[in-house]
This record gives sequence, structure tokens and C-alpha cells, in this order.
Amino acid sequence: MVKAYLISTGTELLLGSTLDTNSIFLSRKLAEIGVKVIGKSVVGDNPDSIAMALRMGLAAADMVITTGGLGPTRDDLTKEIACEVAGVDMKLIEAEEERLRDYFQRRHRAMPEINLKQAMFPEQATIITNHFGTAPGMYLPLKNNQVIICLPGPPREAEPMYENYVKDLLIKTYNLTDRRSASRIIRIFGPGESQVEEMLQEVMDQAHNYNLALLASEGEINVRVTAEGKDYNESVVILTKVTEQISQIMGKSVFGYDDDTLSAVVGKLLDNRNRSLAVAESCTGGFLGKMITDIPGSSKYFWGGVITYSNQAKENLLGVRSATLQEYGAVSRETALEMAWGVKRLAGTDIGISITGIAGPEGGSEEKPVGLVYIALVGDNLEQVREMHFVGNRNGIRTLSAKSALDLLRLQLL
Ligand code: ATP
Ligand code: MG
Repeated sequence: MVKAYLISTGTELLLGSTLDTNSIFLSRKLAEIGVKVIGKSVVGDNPDSIAMALRMGLAAADMVITTGGLGPTRDDLTKEIACEVAGVDMKLIEAEEERLRDYFQRRHRAMPEINLKQAMFPEQATIITNHFGTAPGMYLPLKNNQVIICLPGPPREAEPMYENYVKDLLIKTYNLTDRRSASRIIRIFGPGESQVEEMLQEVMDQAHNYNLALLASEGEINVRVTAEGKDYNESVVILTKVTEQISQIMGKSVFGYDDDTLSAVVGKLLDNRNRSLAVAESCTGGFLGKMITDIPGSSKYFWGGVITYSNQAKENLLGVRSATLQEYGAVSRETALEMAWGVKRLAGTDIGISITGIAGPEGGSEEKPVGLVYIALVGDNLEQVREMHFVGNRNGIRTLSAKSALDLLRLQLL
């Protein structure tokens, strides 16, 4: 089995100010082509530590992949040290110099001479084009079929470089058959983790050429199905069958697959059905609107929203009656409904949604505990209010509230 060792460089990773997602991304992607990650290091921008990690990796693995430290500044040293450890020299590559100068010219900026080091590479290296930044990556073959691969730190640069160039180079170098197994994530909202597990018990028990992994996160349950046939085609056939089986059992609570998000799925439904939406938020403070507008093109169906946090805002902007607020309170079925009708009226949309609740940590009472949230959904021939009881911290309750509102709308639109 081909083995890999990963090195993430950057002092900010050690300080805890940046999460090392690059090695997670690479671990996942390498598994897909049958490369086993046998270890990884996180090191600061320090020449000795980077060299030590490289030597350690080369002693145990076929390939070492580094991310970070390809920038133009003095503390960006990864490529230089990799060449030192490999015992090769770098020289200025003309085509790369031209590309750099062109990059700066197009932005009407003068190129600092220090940037030229990004055009320095050893002769035997394959230069990996970076379409999203100035630092190219390096694919450096060594003796006895080892390679060092250097990628830049920013994930939006490193990830496409892996997908577009490194993967194919590795497949060629190591004669890998591009993955045998096939996998898919089934995304579920509504039931809890143990409930899903119970419902899928039989599918789990039957598993022999596939396996299921359940992952709960922010109210969503993700079921990852990995099918393992004798080749990729057979894996896909197994995967399709198991996916259908699970989708049938879980019914409408399956909102999507793989990279689908609730807001994207709801957005598509609204768009297809030509419905417009406005939201009125209290305890979520705009979080629902943020989620909806995470989707590019949401202006087609999303009018916008109002954050009516105080009673006064609820009255003045949405026309919630002060008698309602007095009699039932801001967190109540009645207020939620008046908020939803209010924003629908204000916006002139087909649908209005509102959220009002107690996100905590203070403000709860015996009668109305922290986590009590009302979500109302109104439209022509439509009036629904849900009383929810969420458990979690302030952030968790707000996230669950916004997602539940999206899911309520999704179920209504189906
Ligand atoms: P640049 O040209 O942007 O300086 P670089 O290759 O020198 O690129 P670094 O300076 O090490 O990369 O990191 C740039 C940024 O990329 C970091 O501030 C961080 O936000 C992100 N980054 C670096 N390493 C990782 C990592 N392992 N996982 C996730 N993000 C990372
Ligand atoms: Mg840098």
C-alpha cells in the first residue's frame, strides 16, 4: 500500500487561531485513491521543525505532502527547505517569472522583487499551477519513487490544486487505480441520532459489502454509506441500492445528498415553485436570513427579512398587537403567527416565516424555559405554528431554530 505523510506548516496553526483543515481534506482525498496516511505533523514557520518533519515523513512514507509557507515573505520557507532536505538546487524558471509579472500587471500593482522566489524551482520538479493565488505548488520526485509535494496554505488554493493536478500525478506515479469504493452521504433533518439508528438497524445488520456511519451535527444526521464491491462499477450498484433503501425508510426527513444544504434545497424548491419568501426573526437575530442568502441567486425568491428583537420592533415593523404581546408574551404561538403574517403583509410575498423563542442562557422561566421556540409559517391557505423545545447553548438553540424553520418550509413545499 502506498503511504503518505502530511505536514501542515504555519505558526497560526500551533497557536490555535487557524484550524488545520488541509490535512483533513488531504486524508479524505488520498483515501479515495487508495493511499494510506500513516501520520501527520503540524509545525510552525521554523526551518528546523519543517526539516525534521520532512525527514521523519520521508523515513516512513512514499510521499510527503506539505501545505503552507509558499508565500513570498521571509517566513515562507517550505519549498526551500524541501529542496534542501532532498539535496537539490533551485533556479529561476522563466515561464514562472513571466506568469508572476503578468499576475501583478493585470492588477496594476508593482511586483516586489521578493516575489521572484515563487518562480524558483528545481529542474526535476513539476510545477503545479495555482489558479487562485501567486504561489505555485511543487511536485518533486526523489530517488526510489518517493515524492515531496508542496502546496500553499489557503484551502481555496490548495484544494483545487490537489483535485486538478496532484491527484492525477499520484495516480500516474504510483500506478493507482482510481478508487474502488463508492460513497455517498444521505442528509437527514428531523429525527434524532438514536432514532435514525433504530430505523436503520436492519440495513446496518445486513451490511457486508457496504458500511454505514452516522454523524450528527447541528440537528442534521448525516449517514455516510460506503460500498465496497470488487470494482468501482459494482460499488456504485451497491451504493445505489442501499441509498434507495435508506431513502425509503427515512422518507421525507431525507433532505438531500452529499453537499446539499437545507438552505440550498429550500431555495431550489422555492425557485421551482415560483414562491417568494420573507422572514421575521427575533431570537435568531438574522441567522435564518443569513442561511437563506448563503445561496447565490437567492434574490430570486427571497424578499428579505426583519429582525424584530424588541417588543417595540415587533409592534412597529410587523404590526404585532400590543394586546397579544401583553396577554401571551413575545415567545408564544400567537406572537409568532402575528409576526409571520406581519412580514408577509409588509413584503407582499407568498410566504412569511417567523421565529420567536428563548435562546438563553438567561430569560427562561418554569413556564417558558430556555430552548422554547415558536416557528410560524403562513401563506395563502396556510397557517402553521410549531412549538419546539431545543436543548443546547445559545448558539446551538439559534442554529437549530433557523434550520427547523427551513425544514418546516421544505416539508410544506414538497
Ligand atoms: P500565502 O501566499 O497566502 O502566504 P502560504 O502558502 O505562505 O500562502 P501560509 O502563509 O502558511 O500559506 O498560510 C496562509 C493562510 O492559509 C493562513 O493564514 C491560513 O488561513 C490558511 N492555512 C494555512 N495552513 C492551513 C491549514 N493547514 N489548514 C487550513 N488553513 C490553512
Ligand atoms: Mg504565507
